[in-house]
Amino acid sequence: MPFASLGLVPALARAAADHGYAAPTPIQQAAIPALLAGRDLRGQAHTGSGKTAAFVLPLLQRWAQSPHRGGHGRALHTLVVVPTRELATQVAEAFARFGAALDVRPRIVRGIGGVSINPQLMALRGGADIVVGTPGRLLDLVQHNALRLAAVQALVLDEADRLLDLGFADELARLLDLLPAQRQMVLLSATFPAGTAALADRLLREPLTVEGAALPTDAPDIAQRAIAVDAGRRTQLLRHLLSTEGWPRALVFVATKHACETVADKLRKAGIAAEPLHGVLGQGKREQVLADFKAARVRVVVATDLAARGIDIAELPVVVNYDLARAAADHVHRIGRTGRAGASGVAVSFVPAAAEAHFRLIEKRQGRRVPREQVTGFEPVEQAPEAAPGGGGVKGRRPNKKDKLRAAAAAAAKGPQ
Ligand code: AMP
Repeated sequence: MPFASLGLVPALARAAADHGYAAPTPIQQAAIPALLAGRDLRGQAHTGSGKTAAFVLPLLQRWAQSPHRGGHGRALHTLVVVPTRELATQVAEAFARFGAALDVRPRIVRGIGGVSINPQLMALRGGADIVVGTPGRLLDLVQHNALRLAAVQALVLDEADRLLDLGFADELARLLDLLPAQRQMVLLSATFPAGTAALADRLLREPLTVEGAALPTDAPDIAQRAIAVDAGRRTQLLRHLLSTEGWPRALVFVATKHACETVADKLRKAGIAAEPLHGVLGQGKREQVLADFKAARVRVVVATDLAARGIDIAELPVVVNYDLARAAADHVHRIGRTGRAGASGVAVSFVPAAAEAHFRLIEKRQGRRVPREQVTGFEPVEQAPEAAPGGGGVKGRRPNKKDKLRAAAAAAAKGPQ
């Protein structure tokens, strides 16, 4: 099915094709006609499903066909609220890329925290057609009278679950109060826990609902591998795999900023171009790391979950879970960094004995088993620590009755010390 059959004007349909999109993804097939018709959208969609273009293309067209586009009557038409600066950049880039195909180009401004507000204030002089930003900075811009939300025609909340997780609920409520009651709205979220579902129910009017849009784990071309290895040998194993598997680039997830620094440092000492990516780094540095990674000047980026959210790197062949994700949803999100929209990818998880129970939980939540491998020379020798009596040790899971019985039986079998 070509893009043009979804109701897009030829310029935008052509721009999608020129960008290498052969056919719309499922969420694009559903969302584009509905958004062109002015409907609200409630989409369960992960990064990798094509969710960005699913709202960028039709909202650009709505803007292009609105009476206020450009010129003297310029008023903010589309506001996109996202949880992170990186995602803001990516969404703004998508608007700019496809907007360039229109005869009048929209003025697009990013309103993101962590960088000086002045260039953003300057950019908003004379108004903007589309603004993409994070909640706190958007409110600051409103307070500086640089941003007026009263005429907004379309509002997008992207990664709404993350917005709430990251504690943006109050800022979001204040932003929503400033928006006109009559506007089109798109709410996208990877998951719909109670808070997100309540937000959607409150804000959306008879939305088109799209569920489970091409979860990355459903994509047959993401091969998942799990390698049993001792925790203390993971960096060596990573180096070994980088040289034996011929991975041109890899995104490696670790649990802490400290681990980001130490693992990247060790790789660099071994002659591998590696950089850390975490929240303490300044925005300029983070953007530089990503640019270097995209341009293949950096081979390995070692990242925390938060810093990596929303990253979109075409043809990223490998994601490595050096530390497992704390929550199964984050695991899915991480592995969705590879195998984007048609490209094949590999997600490798390191599973030390102590993390085996946690990985089993991740497998259960994903509904798929990943066979454990061992790599010659890296066979694990550590044993899983015994479950503390009555304590599960697996985050997000309380010991159930069976676990307690098992722990009691194990304690009894061991006898007095
Ligand atoms: P997203 O889910 O919006 O983060 O998009 C994930 C990746 O898929 C990005 O690299 C997009 O450029 C790419 N993409 C989006 N739509 C399509 C499509 N219809 N065909 C091929 N690639 C796409």
